[in-house]
Amino acid sequence: MVYMEHINKSFGTLKVIEDFSYTFNQGEFVCICGPSGIGKTTILQLIAGLQQPDAGMVQCASRNIGYVFQEPRLIPWCNVVENIEMGLFHIIPEDPPERRRRAAEMARRVGLDGFQDYYPAQLSGGMKQRVSLARAFAVEPDILLLDEPFSSLNIELRDAMCNYLQQLLALKPCTSVMVTHTLEDAVRLADRLLYLRDRPCRIALEYTWDRPSGQRDMSYIYQQMQAISEKIDLNCDGGRET
Ligand code: ADP
Ligand code: MG
Repeated sequence: MVYMEHINKSFGTLKVIEDFSYTFNQGEFVCICGPSGIGKTTILQLIAGLQQPDAGMVQCASRNIGYVFQEPRLIPWCNVVENIEMGLFHIIPEDPPERRRRAAEMARRVGLDGFQDYYPAQLSGGMKQRVSLARAFAVEPDILLLDEPFSSLNIELRDAMCNYLQQLLALKPCTSVMVTHTLEDAVRLADRLLYLRDRPCRIALEYTWDRPSGQRDMSYIYQQMQAISEKIDLNCDGGRET
């Protein structure tokens, strides 16, 4: 569970968030959508503790957080397993073989068997993002934060990443918050969608579905995307960029 209560956050004179409150329920998958520059990344960073609020409180049920950034953020001189291992140093500080074993297992789970020794420069964009996903899950997170993790990938790769993400979540359920620009990903994965707009940002639309994510076929997904787009147009002035 993540509570955000009466949060204010400005950068200089720019008030990005003012009196923002929201509770992310335990085990729920929430997608955050909204125009560029509205404050989506800032919300994830406040949850992760990478940014401090000017006022208000962020409370997380656990500090065991996995973070998938928009770009893979891999260390160029570390191979696949070493990159995945990075998140484990503070969790298993005194057992390097166990750390290595866990990292190799995570590489396998995201389909990187045989590539464990590869360096980032030798990997495709999709493979790099899979390493980043594996690194986030290696810590067995209670809270998973994903910032447009598939935005640089083509449709097929996005599809594969969604599948890996769903498989990993089935093994290690957690409270997940994902920023995405793609309504299709939101309908496919999320229990709840928040659409943000305005400055300071506010929740213009909150949307839930009558089918669990595993039971949404393509026709349901497209129908729901249409319904959400109409609601965004209605509630949010077409979701124009701010
Ligand atoms: P989004 O992820 O929705 O595109 P962000 O949360 O990254 O938006 O940013 C919201 C606004 O805050 C933007 O106008 C951005 O320029 C500004 N901002 C974000 N982080 C910083 C920072 N560290 N310093 C100054 N301005 C920032
Ligand atoms: Mg962002």
